[in-house]
Amino acid sequence: METIIDFDTVSYTWPGGKGLQDVRLAVSGGDFVLVSGPSGSGKSTLLRLAARLEEPDSGTVRFAGVPLADLDPPKLRRRIGYIQQTPVVMEGSVRENLLLPYSFAVNREEVPPSDTVLQDWLNRVALARVGLDDVAAALSVGQKQRLCIIRSLLLRPELLLMDEPTSALDRESRHIVEQLTEELNREGMTIILVSHSDYRPQVAHVCVTVKDGRVAQGEGRMTVCDASVEVV
Ligand code: ADP
Ligand code: MG
Repeated sequence: METIIDFDTVSYTWPGGKGLQDVRLAVSGGDFVLVSGPSGSGKSTLLRLAARLEEPDSGTVRFAGVPLADLDPPKLRRRIGYIQQTPVVMEGSVRENLLLPYSFAVNREEVPPSDTVLQDWLNRVALARVGLDDVAAALSVGQKQRLCIIRSLLLRPELLLMDEPTSALDRESRHIVEQLTEELNREGMTIILVSHSDYRPQVAHVCVTVKDGRVAQGEGRMTVCDASVEVV
């Protein structure tokens, strides 16, 4: 598979001096990359650079071979989905929240999905009892996170960045999000997921460890049967 995103000697320093140094990382299309490492090591910084929420001080992040800085930002936002630890929903109904991206100028050519399609998505993440007219703000954190994930999936991103998407969730929601993420990967979506728990995907995955601003990639690919073995 071709490289979908690569970090070519990327360094980034936050005010205060912390950050990432000389990151080299190539992710192939269709991969499931599991990023782990201690708190404060730079995992979120890595994802923020991949989503171009921050710009490297030196080096280049490329998406499908093109430097992120050369991609039109709205288009980039469509091709790369980004899920935060804490879901953010806006005022209004579940439907309005799900359709929010379709109100952006860049997506005006896109036909918004029908209620049937939206409801199918809700069913898929065990939100069958949530109605499209329900007030989004009234959902639980776990339900809001599932809503945010659906919202980012409707425009079919090629790469999904997930920053500890389940750490604020209850057990049931966590399980549902993990199952969905693995299913999406089986369907061909590239996933980069930050986790500081002991979660191990039930799909083949690449392990990446971040420590003190340095990124190390494990040798080879973990398969389901050896997924409890650390390669890094
Ligand atoms: P992780 O996600 O692995 O916990 P982060 O990538 O969030 O780590 O942070 C890495 C380092 O950068 C930490 O030392 C953190 O304090 C620092 N940092 C993160 N965000 C900022 C910020 N907005 N301003 C200044 N320093 C930051
Ligand atoms: Mg983090």
